[in-house]
Amino acid sequence: MASIEMSHIVKQYGDGYPAVNDVSLDIADGEFMILVGPSGCGKSTLLRMIVGLEDITSGDMVIKGDRVNDRAPRDRNLSMVFQNYALYPHLTVYENIAFPLRLAKVSDDEVRRRVEEAADILELREHLERKPANLSGGQRQRVAMGRAIVRAADAFLFDEPLSNLDAKLRGQMRTEIARLQRRLGITTVYVTHDQTEAMTLGDRVCVLRKGVIQQVASPRELYEQP
Ligand code: ADP
Ligand code: ADP
Repeated sequence: MASIEMSHIVKQYGDGYPAVNDVSLDIADGEFMILVGPSGCGKSTLLRMIVGLEDITSGDMVIKGDRVNDRAPRDRNLSMVFQNYALYPHLTVYENIAFPLRLAKVSDDEVRRRVEEAADILELREHLERKPANLSGGQRQRVAMGRAIVRAADAFLFDEPLSNLDAKLRGQMRTEIARLQRRLGITTVYVTHDQTEAMTLGDRVCVLRKGVIQQVASPRELYEQP
């Protein structure tokens, strides 16, 4: 069964050319889908429409069988990891990861169990009492991922999560994200303009250009193209 089904999705800002123009794409349960293309091709807009941060001009967005066009982000059960991490500077690592659970009024014991489990997976156990300002870029990125994985979300959405990191850390985090996604088996949509990420992370790659899908293929199929 498809986890995310987009049919004929259009996003029109003002009266210019549509930012997303008649995109239809099904993402399977557990699949890791990459959205790639040059700056301005509509990747972020598409991702933001999946999450509900942007209104859909026309078309249908269906998540786990439900049409979600008019549903607020908090009613979609999705976890998004942003490029700038969006951590709360005044909260500890523990409370940053716990944040979505606090909102959901999860009990303290259950919060502790889930935060510690996420911290183990992401090797953040020693840093739980620190504040984001005292962490490296890679650690901050892992906290942002921790916050995404504590909730049993239907899908993870990543918007260029590694673009603020240096090349070495980017390579390391790429490996971690791939491992984490396989381990959790959660449907993932990952926006990037980085060819290496596109070719190494995903099960399939959706290439966008000027708001239109040019191609959807596995990295191998893309690589072997003449
Ligand atoms: P990408 O993520 O691929 O760089 P975006 O989805 O950010 O592309 O943008 C697609 C197009 O929509 C671009 O032409 C951009 O300028 C335009 N756009 C994005 N957000 C807005 C907005 N809030 N208002 C008007 N135009 C926007
Ligand atoms: P990205 O890194 O995703 O390309 P940008 O830096 O282009 O993001 O855009 C940052 C914010 O500005 C986003 O919320 C986007 O929707 C908005 N935005 C992008 N292009 C435009 C535009 N032409 N007019 C108004 N807002 C825009």
